[in-house]
Amino acid sequence: MSKVKRYHLLIKGIVQGVGFRPFVYNLARSLNLKGWVLNSSEGVHIEIEGSDSLLEIFISKLVSEKPPRAEIDSIEKEMLPPVNFSGFTIRESEQKEGAFILISPDIATCEDCRSELFNSEDRRHRYPFINCTNCGPRFTIIEDIPYDRPKTTMKKFQMCPLCLQEYDDPGNRRFHAQPNACHTCGPQLMLVIPNSALELWKLDFNFKPINNLSPEILSDYRIESTPHKSFLLKEEALKAAEALIRKGGIIAIKGLGGFHIACDASNEEAVKTLRQRKRRPSKPFAVMFKNLEHAREYVFLTNFEKDLLESPSAPIVLAKKIFPDRLAESVSPKLREHGVMLSSTPLHHLLLNDISLPLIMTSGNLSEEPIVKDNQEAFERLSDIVDAFLIHNRDIYSRYDDSVIKQVNIYRMTLRRARSYAPYPIRFPFGSSPQLLACGPELKCTFCLTREQYAFVSQHLGDLEDELTYRNYSETIELYKKLFKIDPEVYICDLHPDYLSTHYAFENHREKELLRVQHHHAHIASVLGEHGEKGPVIGFSFDGTGYGTDGTVWGGEVLISTTSDFERYAHLLQVPLPGGESAIKKPYRMAISVLKTIAGNNLPQIPLLDRIPLNELEIIKRMIETGSNSPLTSSMGRLFDAAAAISGIGEEATYEAELAIEFEAAADDNEKDSYHFELIDESPVKIDFRPVFSEMIKDVLDGKRASSISMKFHRAISEVILQIAQKIRKEVGIDTVAISGGVWQNSILTRLACDLLEKNEFKLLLHKELPPNDGCISYGQAVIAGTKFS
Ligand code: ZN
Ligand code: ZN
Ligand code: FE
Repeated sequence: MSKVKRYHLLIKGIVQGVGFRPFVYNLARSLNLKGWVLNSSEGVHIEIEGSDSLLEIFISKLVSEKPPRAEIDSIEKEMLPPVNFSGFTIRESEQKEGAFILISPDIATCEDCRSELFNSEDRRHRYPFINCTNCGPRFTIIEDIPYDRPKTTMKKFQMCPLCLQEYDDPGNRRFHAQPNACHTCGPQLMLVIPNSALELWKLDFNFKPINNLSPEILSDYRIESTPHKSFLLKEEALKAAEALIRKGGIIAIKGLGGFHIACDASNEEAVKTLRQRKRRPSKPFAVMFKNLEHAREYVFLTNFEKDLLESPSAPIVLAKKIFPDRLAESVSPKLREHGVMLSSTPLHHLLLNDISLPLIMTSGNLSEEPIVKDNQEAFERLSDIVDAFLIHNRDIYSRYDDSVIKQVNIYRMTLRRARSYAPYPIRFPFGSSPQLLACGPELKCTFCLTREQYAFVSQHLGDLEDELTYRNYSETIELYKKLFKIDPEVYICDLHPDYLSTHYAFENHREKELLRVQHHHAHIASVLGEHGEKGPVIGFSFDGTGYGTDGTVWGGEVLISTTSDFERYAHLLQVPLPGGESAIKKPYRMAISVLKTIAGNNLPQIPLLDRIPLNELEIIKRMIETGSNSPLTSSMGRLFDAAAAISGIGEEATYEAELAIEFEAAADDNEKDSYHFELIDESPVKIDFRPVFSEMIKDVLDGKRASSISMKFHRAISEVILQIAQKIRKEVGIDTVAISGGVWQNSILTRLACDLLEKNEFKLLLHKELPPNDGCISYGQAVIAGTKFS
C-alpha cells in the first residue's frame, strides 16, 4: 500500500457559485479521501489526505470532471504531514484581508431545473425562480464577497425546511446554491396594471385583481405608491400578463439584470405601438423564442449560432432571416438579420411556453440610458411605454443588458458584452503591472480595472452623456473595486477633454498617476492585448470618431502600432464635418461635404439634394466654406454615412450608424465590380476617396441601384486596405494586421478584407471576447498603461 500523504490545495479561477464545493466533496468521498474544503476570498482551499495514488486521481479529476461552469486558472499545491482526518467536510467560508476571487456571471436555466419546472409532480412545478448550483442569477444579485447568501439580494428570503435541507446536503444539486428558493419561501411574481389599461384591454379574468396591498407587501416589493393600479399575484399574475400579450399589449418584465419590454413579435400593430411609445422609429428589436426549434421557423442558424444560443450565457445572436413575413415587419426593418435569443430564466420559459409566440424582448430604458432595475423605478420611467408591469420581490443589485454576438466567417464577434459575460476577466498580459483603472471612452462605455493577470472589463454601460448613465458608471466602478479588492494606482483616460470618463479620471485620480491615451491607439492595443501580443502590427482603426493627437476628429486611421506606441502611417483624406457631432444624426451633411470636396460649388444633381431643404443646403455649404462649426475629420464611419446617403439609402439616422447599417444590408453579393481609392504618398499617407465618389456619382446619375453601389464601395475599402498593408509590409516588413473600431461591426467589410488579407498571407488579429466598437477601449487603455508600468 502506498504512503499516506496530505496536501493543501488552493484553487483559483471561477470556482464559487458554480457547484464546486459539492463536486469536491463528492469526489473526495467517492475516493474515500479525508479532509475538508472551504471557500475563501482567495479561492477554494482543500486539504486532502490519503494514499499517494488516490490523491493523484483526485487532483486529475478535479480538472477533468469539474462542474460545467467552473474555470480553473491555477492550483497551488503544498505537501503537509498527515494528521489523520476522520472524514471529509465542508467548512465555513472565510474571508482574508485583500484577497479576491472570481465569481461566475449569471447562468441560463439548466436542463435539470427546466424539467422540474414543467414536471407537475415536482414541488417547484411552475416556480418562476427555480435555480440550482448550475444555473440562476449570480452577479446581478451580489452585493459583496465571498459569494454567500447574506451578501446577496436573496438575504431577505428565509429558506423553508425543505429548501434548507437541500442547501445543507452536499450530495444535493442545490447544496449551497445561494439563490435557492421555492413556492413556499422564495421570490414571487406580481402583475401591476394601471386601472386604465385594465379597462382598455378588457381582460376577461375569472379572478379578481386586488386593489389595495398591505404596507408589508408594498415594502417587500419596494413600491412607494399605487394610485389607480390593480394587482395580481403569483400564477394569476403570469396568466394575466400572458393574456395581455396575446391581445397585443406591451409589458415590462423584470428579468435578471433589469427590465425588458415585451410584446408579441408577430403582431405588427403591437410592435408599431411599441416603436411609437419608446420613440425608437427603426432600431432593431431583439426577439425571444421558447426554444431552438421555434427560432428555426424564423431564422437560419449555423451550428456556431445554435451553440451560442443554447450556451449557459444565452446571448442575443444575430441570425439571418428566413420567411421574413412571419414576424412583424417593423421588428428589424430593412435588415437581413434578426437579433434572436432563447428563454434564459424560468420566468421566460413559463411565459414563452404558455403563449408559444415569439416575443420582442428589448431593454427597459429610453435609448442609451441605463436599463431600469427597480420596481418603483420601472413605474416612474416606463409607464408611458407599457400597459402593465410583471415584477417580483427579488432585488437586482447590478444592471446588466443582454449581450449581443454574431458570427462573421469563422470569427465570433461580440457587439455588446454584458449579461453572463462581464465581469468574467479578460487575460491581462502584464502580471507585474500596478493596479489600473482605465476609464474608457464616451459612447458604448465600459471601464476596466486590472489586478495581477486579470482585466475586469465592466459590462456595457451605454453612452456616457447624461447624469443617469454617469451615476451608474461611477457606482459600478465602486462595486468592482469592492468586489475585486482593487485600489488603482494609475488612472487612464482618453485625450478628449470633454468626455465624462475623462472628467471622472481627473476628479478621482488625486495624487495617483494619470495617463492619457489616444482613442485609435487604444483600439489596436486592445486587440493586441487579447492575443497576448505586443506588436508591431499594421492596425486598421476604423470608426466614427476619436480625438486625434492634433485635435482633429480621427476615424479612418492606419497605425503602425505596438502596445506602447504608434505611428499614424496613413489616414483618410480629411474633410470638414458640418455641424460637428450633430452630423452623425444627419448623414446628408457629410455627403454634401464629400460632394463639395469633389465638385466645388457645382454639386452634381443627384436625387439626394432634392430631399434637403434649399435653405439648409445653403447653410451647410456656407459652414463648409467658412469652416464655422465644421471640424476636420478623417472618419471612416462618416465616409460610410456619406456613401449611404449619396447612394439613396436615406438621409437621416434615428439610431447610431443607421444609414451605414442599412447600406451594408442592401449590398448585393453578385456585384463583382469595385470603386478605387488612390494613395497620396505623403507622410502620413492620405487615402484619397475622391475617385471613389466620382465613380459613385456617375453610377447614381446612371440610375444604378444602391445595392450594387454599396457592394462596390465595400470592395473598394477592402482593396485599399490590402494595398496599404502590402505597402507597409514592403517598406518595414510587418505582416500582422490588427483590426478594430466600430466600422468593423460591418460583416461584409470584415469578410471581404479578411479574405483578401489572408489570401495574401497576412496574419490577422481580430478581437476575441471584446467588441470592435468602443466597448473595447477601456481594455486597450489598460494594455497601453500595463506596457508602460510593468
Ligand atoms: Zn439548475
Ligand atoms: Zn423553500
Ligand atoms: Fe472607436
